Amino acid sequence: MSASAPSVLRARIDARALTENVRALRAQVGQRRLMCVVKADAYGHGLAQTVPALLRGGVRDLGAATLAEALEVHTLLLDLQSAVGTPGARQQPEAGDEEPSETLPAAGDVRILFWLHDSRTDLAPALRADIEVGCSTAEGVRRAAEAAGRTGVPARVHLKVDTGLGRGGFTAAQFSALLSELRGWTSTEAEHLRITGLMTHLANADVPGDPATAEQVAEFRARQRELTAFLDSVGGALGDPEALETHLANSPGALGGEEIGGTMVRVGLSTYGLSPFEDRTAADLGLRPAMSLVSRVLTVKEVPAGHGASYGLTYRAPADTRFALVAGGYADGLPRGASGRAQVTIRGRRFPVVGRIAMDQMVVDVGDAPVETGDAVVILGDGRTGPSAEEWGEWAGTINYEIVARVGPRVDREVA
Ligand code: PLP
Repeated sequence: MSASAPSVLRARIDARALTENVRALRAQVGQRRLMCVVKADAYGHGLAQTVPALLRGGVRDLGAATLAEALEVHTLLLDLQSAVGTPGARQQPEAGDEEPSETLPAAGDVRILFWLHDSRTDLAPALRADIEVGCSTAEGVRRAAEAAGRTGVPARVHLKVDTGLGRGGFTAAQFSALLSELRGWTSTEAEHLRITGLMTHLANADVPGDPATAEQVAEFRARQRELTAFLDSVGGALGDPEALETHLANSPGALGGEEIGGTMVRVGLSTYGLSPFEDRTAADLGLRPAMSLVSRVLTVKEVPAGHGASYGLTYRAPADTRFALVAGGYADGLPRGASGRAQVTIRGRRFPVVGRIAMDQMVVDVGDAPVETGDAVVILGDGRTGPSAEEWGEWAGTINYEIVARVGPRVDREVA
């Protein structure tokens, strides 16, 4: 949105929380690399507002779903590099930041991986930008090699295996067929392809002890052994088996305490300070929510008992009261499904959102509380400062992931 016409509803992104979250996550995952997943505009937090803080926390691997997202990350890294100057230059420490700042990496020192593309996706732009490609089909692998032939840049590919989730990824049979096909490639064809990673995605890691997770891990290990043996057998022509990056764990997999393994984890939600578990809060995990949504009271007016609020008149004031009109609605990503249950925080106190949440605004019954036009309204906070993403999820019958990822493009993001 234009800086000359700032939005009333604003997303404040707490850069320090992001940096501290990734430091906490790095401590948790030990020797494994920490890939932060920044798809969907960094889970709604804004790429530009998020990535610098992640880099400051030492993150050197970023994951995206689509090629457009991956290219956007690449451009942002180049912009950050040119803004700071010399690659490797020390970043300005944040005020009050006791931890030594990590150096800003050169764009080439940050790995970008994406994994969602189809037969019409030209992978050449990815290769030119040094982006690694997750491939779930033999067609994708061939397309990557073909783009490498055109660009002269070898395709670095992570093979994505389906170990039980049933989404993208090679089944065991498809994986064996791929390796047989690759065995038949000429040395010129093989020059275009480097298998640099093996990945899968877990279905139920948020349910501690679910046997499906152990089964997926076992399946993954079997594919890993198959791939390592294959790479050895072709003399490393298609990739170095010793250097293979293996990654299975999402946030619940990385934090659930189960033996998932791999050389890297791919975490999204926990990066942003949210818990993927129903029975453990972010604080339990040593994390802090990075996003708050703050709006303003547009008007306050007295209404008599029986006065309706918003479309459908699903709410009628039980007594004489005051309605505060607050900017923010479903076009901003606030779920209309939370109507009738949602709350907001004004001057440190919770008030009910009454009637239906509309496209751009909502009505809050503030009674005789000292609420005035222009007051700040915390629509989303950490549970204490304002309703949490988990509460909104409960009100709307969804999960915290969806609450933050839905925050729309017309909401300005600002780093706080
Ligand atoms: N890896 C893949 C392939 C994903 O699609 C996602 C997000 O859904 C993640 C990792 C990150 O998952 P989470 O946000 O649970 O950490």
